[in-house]
Amino acid sequence: AKAVGRGTHCLFETQMDETARERTVMERELREALVHGRFELHYQPLVDLDDNRIKGVEALVRWRHPERGLVSPTVFIPLAEETGLIVPLGDWVLNQACRDAAALPDDISVAVNVSALQLRNRNFAQGVLMALAASGLKATRLELEITESVLLDDTESNLETLHTLRRLGVRISMDDFGTGYSSISYLRRFPFDKIKIDRSFVRDSAGRSDAGAIIRAIVGLGASLGITTLVEGIETEEQLATVRAEGAQEMQGYLFSPPRPVQDIARMIADAAAK
Ligand code: C2E
Ligand code: CA
Ligand code: CA
Ligand code: CA
Repeated sequence: AKAVGRGTHCLFETQMDETARERTVMERELREALVHGRFELHYQPLVDLDDNRIKGVEALVRWRHPERGLVSPTVFIPLAEETGLIVPLGDWVLNQACRDAAALPDDISVAVNVSALQLRNRNFAQGVLMALAASGLKATRLELEITESVLLDDTESNLETLHTLRRLGVRISMDDFGTGYSSISYLRRFPFDKIKIDRSFVRDSAGRSDAGAIIRAIVGLGASLGITTLVEGIETEEQLATVRAEGAQEMQGYLFSPPRPVQDIARMIADAAAK
């Protein structure tokens, strides 16, 4: 029994080593990818539920890996956050998204995801200003999406940075609303422009009457605070009907369009405008 125990221990250690090695490899590859420009942005439409028009797009980063193909951000963003690489990567995303958006029609905004480590950086607001200046994009066309976890740490200076950006005209959205412990209390601490209701609330909605009730309650909360509500992850006509019935203003999801390269999104927007 002892031998088996020790064997198991060794196997466990080997797996730990393997995981650590994979992380080290991925960290090195991420650094190389930054240097060699192997990231790309895809854009997913944010759609007005009144008239089905595209109001804006969310920039979502992908990694063009030489062997693994297009790698999802869910695979590398956590490691980029742990290693601090999210700071230069996030800066690239911000600049590229502003450049891409500047080439889209004036009434289309662009939403960029911001990680905690980026916001905590003293120079973050300055970096946003530089991205706007370099691209010629108006501040009012930029939205920054932050999750509750971004506000959890170092809250006072984070709030100050957000206020600074908001005074300049940049809009701030609360992402993944409802997945954290204190989403609602953050609405009192910062005047968000938009709430993005997490897709877990619609995913559970098939055949369940309480999902509609929860969305309705959040939409009502947003309305009373003057905050726009968007529902994420709409995949079916049934879900679309639910969020429309509950009074949300915007939606995002595969039903309308998955994230696509900027040329495809530009064509979608042009086609819609020509109708
Ligand atoms: P998120 O900010 O909540 O972005 C929405 C995610 O939901 C995207 O996944 C999008 O492709 C996916 N999605 C959209 N519609 C649907 C739908 O109808 N059904 C389903 N099942 N999924 C849908 P993606 O592109 O894989 O991004 C995953 C996460 O990675 C993002 O979640 C965000 O947290 C992070 N991320 C992506 N790009 C960036 C970035 O530039 N910076 C930072 N810090 N994080 C990023
Ligand atoms: Ca987001
Ligand atoms: Ca989200
Ligand atoms: Ca999410």
